[in-house]
Amino acid sequence: MVRLLLIEDDQAIVDALTLSLGRLDHTVEHLGAAPEDLEQRVAATDAVILDVGLPGEDGFAVCRRIRRSSAVPILMLTARSDDIDTVAGLEAGADDYVVKPVSPRVLDARIKAALRRSAPAAEPAPAPSSEATAPSNDGPLTVDRAGAEVLRDGAPLPLTPTEKRLIYAFADHPGQVLSREQLLAMAWNQDFLGDSRLVDNAILRLRPKIDPPDGPSHIETVRGFGYRFRPAP
Ligand code: CA
Repeated sequence: MVRLLLIEDDQAIVDALTLSLGRLDHTVEHLGAAPEDLEQRVAATDAVILDVGLPGEDGFAVCRRIRRSSAVPILMLTARSDDIDTVAGLEAGADDYVVKPVSPRVLDARIKAALRRSAPAAEPAPAPSSEATAPSNDGPLTVDRAGAEVLRDGAPLPLTPTEKRLIYAFADHPGQVLSREQLLAMAWNQDFLGDSRLVDNAILRLRPKIDPPDGPSHIETVRGFGYRFRPAP
């Protein structure tokens, strides 16, 4: 059973999703807009399904608010399917997005995929060689997969789940140039028909979080190919 928090103002969608997700053995708590005690509500839930078009504070703003205190999986529901919404949603810290009208089975599959990705204990243990060649050994960044953290000087960096998965993908392929398509498959999910610009966007946001303020970047752009991670920039 998965505890879901559904933030959606369209009652027809709420009724349909509550019924169908309930049948799939999830419990659904529903809110028509983001409440003041959002943090407490989120803390008591396994995943958030968040409509973009909400009265008052929109879904992107709500998403950013949740991300200030929680790494809970967030799936955005959007009525529009253009790239700008997708990028905006993922930039705000969402894990995935589903375009309305949404099939409950598709939503269920996306929820489960997001939960799997966010549960480090459920992931296969990394091979010893990958651990040995992780950037942690050579640079100031440490990849702690068991704790699902990327650390600098022992302190966890405030990265989104997607940003962490990007670093894990690089750590698994030390010294290799990874294409945008490879990164999309590794850091998002395999059936994610995303735009490779999502990768460029995510790396743009990730760099200032991991790079020294005036030094070169950990993530080298290899023109025409993709990106390469350098343990020590
Ligand atoms: Ca709406």
